[in-house]
Amino acid sequence: MKTIFLCSICNVSSGSCNEDCNFCTQSIKHGADIERYSYKDIDQILKEAKRNKKRGATGFCLVTSGKGLNNTKLKYICEATKEILKEIPDFNIIACNGTATLEQLKILKKAGVTSYNHNLESSEDYYSNICTSHSWQERFDTCLAVKEAGLNLVTGGIFGLGESNEQRVSFIDSIKKLKPKTVPLNFFIPNSALPLQTKPLEVDEALEIIRWVRSELPDVKLMVAGGREITFKDRQNEIFKAGANVIVIGDYLTTSGDDVNKDKQMIESLGLNIAKTHNG
Ligand code: SF4
Repeated sequence: MKTIFLCSICNVSSGSCNEDCNFCTQSIKHGADIERYSYKDIDQILKEAKRNKKRGATGFCLVTSGKGLNNTKLKYICEATKEILKEIPDFNIIACNGTATLEQLKILKKAGVTSYNHNLESSEDYYSNICTSHSWQERFDTCLAVKEAGLNLVTGGIFGLGESNEQRVSFIDSIKKLKPKTVPLNFFIPNSALPLQTKPLEVDEALEIIRWVRSELPDVKLMVAGGREITFKDRQNEIFKAGANVIVIGDYLTTSGDDVNKDKQMIESLGLNIAKTHNG
């Protein structure tokens, strides 16, 4: 029986990014109406970790907004990781803190982080259309460093940014080169404050993307992350047949997710198994 993994995310530092990614509400340049705070209390992070574990999540991703890691952020993520693991030793801790050096990644690993998420977002040649404040190459280099540090690489991107089919192919070719463990697929969520004003993808097109990525990357954990509810609406059950085997439960970074019980019922009604641990 096919097993579905539930992952959860915690936005530990929100909305204070100086970068200009035109699809992202966390950039201070766009003035989107979202909650903004610097560092969440570690007690609060721990509370959220316990709640998500109880809900059935096998992974917990500590996400910070901003371009990359600095010493303060690194120390904070290490501390949060250690506190979580003291109480939930089998939780798969994923860090998602932007560009990072090999040294920084090694420190995270030592603190107990098992995976690092850094998305390529789109193809190399389309990237300058969605971000001008940093390069695609920097993102690719961080992904390489993640592997060198011995962490599991989680890398994917976002569809529906106005990219062409050729650019989608080039993007997935780059993902293939990195041989990641998990590939998150996000689908653009429109927001009136953003410079990018494209409509959500049609359900059939988004399902076709999942089917195609699964055929290109048969062995990865394929995650449908942001944009699931708004893109797939009442056809979310079809993402699993198309090839997804991981979903994000609970809330996303700046948008609310569906009710967790509803998600679990959907999976069980399809006769699928919900993973008990991150290894299945
Ligand atoms: S670097 Fe990350 S947090 Fe900052 S604007 Fe870009 S996508 Fe958003």
